[in-house]
Amino acid sequence: MSVLIVGSTALDSIKTPNAENPRLLGGSASHAAVAASFFSPVKLIGVVGEDFPKKYLQLYKRHNIDVEGLQLLPGKTFHWSGEYELNMNNRRTLLTELGVFETFTPVLPPLHQATPFVLLANIAPALQHHVLDQVKRPKFVVADTMDLWLNIALEDLVKLLKRIDGFVLNDSEAQQLTKEDNVFAALKKIHKMGPKYVIIKKGSHGSILSGPGGIFICPAYPLKTVVDPTGAGDSFVGGMMGYLATARGSIDANIRRAMIYGSVTASFCCEGFGLTRTTKTKRGDIDQRVKELEKMTKF
Ligand code: AMP
Repeated sequence: MSVLIVGSTALDSIKTPNAENPRLLGGSASHAAVAASFFSPVKLIGVVGEDFPKKYLQLYKRHNIDVEGLQLLPGKTFHWSGEYELNMNNRRTLLTELGVFETFTPVLPPLHQATPFVLLANIAPALQHHVLDQVKRPKFVVADTMDLWLNIALEDLVKLLKRIDGFVLNDSEAQQLTKEDNVFAALKKIHKMGPKYVIIKKGSHGSILSGPGGIFICPAYPLKTVVDPTGAGDSFVGGMMGYLATARGSIDANIRRAMIYGSVTASFCCEGFGLTRTTKTKRGDIDQRVKELEKMTKF
């Protein structure tokens, strides 16, 4: 089965304490789509401008990502720039140029409307609603978000929580949404807002799932060196959805393993700028790290 992914398709300019890289392929949907493509066919919904390099379109195609739903509009591609502190965890946004995103309305081609797995990657909640309005009886819908939408579009986001099966957010966003410092108290409150599955991401400390099968603590793959963590969260949720879309059996039976696959896919993302390392990764490399994680967490 395939995964429909909507989100930002961007050019990212990233500064770390060691290097600076302008106009890399980025955006929540790009990271999630490449991650999901290791496991299942992907249909991408997004928008780019006339300045979007052809080599990035070819990159999507090399990963068998269906770009029929990727609009090309007159104007500039969404451009985001961020700078990391020495610890590589704290990040500051330097610049957000919306470009063609300002007028973007996602339109699903007819054959995309019945896609069973839907990932609403980080993008304005109103656009996430717009995609949900067009899909027909999806099997599993997961949404991601960011602090910006909690600040400026909370009402839309709260309404969205009633329409989705799974919600993924990081620990500071969960704290902001629920006013709870304790992650387990926050999980409980978020369930009450709608989603059956809630995943709180904790960066290099992994993530925690709360669902019908109870709590699952998912580790991050231990990396000695992080080059650029941009898109790690998107790779995590993209890898998880890609794995779920091809796994046989129920969501409950597969979601824990799917998170492990997502976590390992995200580890490759952190080892290079933008998507440079992820795109060099092979499915076998992912399977190898999953085996290592299995060994590390067995007791
Ligand atoms: P993450 O590191 O998982 O938080 O995701 C980083 C990605 O989010 C980058 O590739 C950015 O292009 C993208 N991004 C940054 N700001 C926004 C925004 N306001 N809306 C959608 N995507 C964004």
